[in-house]
Amino acid sequence: MRIKYLGTAAAEGIPALFCDCDVCKKSMKLGGRNIRTRSQAIIDNTLLIDFPPDTYWHFIQNKLPMDEITNCLVTHSHQDHLYELDIYMRKKGFANFKEPRPALNFYTGKDGVKRINEVINSNNMSEAKAHLVKSGDVFNVQGYTVTALEASHAKESTPLVYIIEKDGKSVFYSNDTSEYFEKSWEILKNFGKPISLISLDCTEGDKHIEYIGHMNLERCIALREKLKTVGVADENTIFVLNHFSHNGGNATYDDFVKIAAEHNFLVSYDGMEIEI
Ligand SMILES: [Zn+2]
Ligand SMILES: [Zn+2]
Ligand SMILES: [Zn+2]
Repeated sequence: MRIKYLGTAAAEGIPALFCDCDVCKKSMKLGGRNIRTRSQAIIDNTLLIDFPPDTYWHFIQNKLPMDEITNCLVTHSHQDHLYELDIYMRKKGFANFKEPRPALNFYTGKDGVKRINEVINSNNMSEAKAHLVKSGDVFNVQGYTVTALEASHAKESTPLVYIIEKDGKSVFYSNDTSEYFEKSWEILKNFGKPISLISLDCTEGDKHIEYIGHMNLERCIALREKLKTVGVADENTIFVLNHFSHNGGNATYDDFVKIAAEHNFLVSYDGMEIEI
């Protein structure tokens, strides 16, 4: 199994569109891995995770086979993870294709389904389909077994995080969230085997935070220990920090990668690929 990070930023991107903060100015100047687009990933170049406004750029940049991709797991309905208006571009005429063509299937929580269906229904589309996912659901997508867990994030966005398994390998894609609710811990305990790669929300970098909804380095360190305690991580599990904001502490890639390395975390960047 191979995960590729296509975009690795929180909602604003780094640099943020209208921002003059030091992180944004420095990141723009440094370029390279310091430039982060809105979060999206792909498994084995076929199973998409999230559908942000930067999907088009990710398609160009990574030569994604978007005409062949038929499945997309969506974490939640915030615009940086679900830019549903672009689904319209799959309608016949905007996209040309030989019939019959399978629909592009989106799997997400209640609010995501509602938003996707608004686009599908108002444009009379058969080229996309929304599937409702609830916390605790285990379902098969294209030969991958997907386990959904409720995330601790803005409730109205019906947030989920996903464990994706195939051929004895697994990825836990865990943003946007802070520490999980008890019922999600129950699902993790029942999962009960070490995951190959765990990707954690580290929106706030090494800045100290109190609020619920995202994580920072300090929380990721504690969460890693708890994940080991319940048996879903061990010494072979690869931990990646992801989903960064310019408002976080030491938020440029070049600065944060050194700090994270001291704690044995990898730091995601746009285009990062890991074979597990
Ligand atoms: Zn986000
Ligand atoms: Zn900024
Ligand atoms: Zn969010």
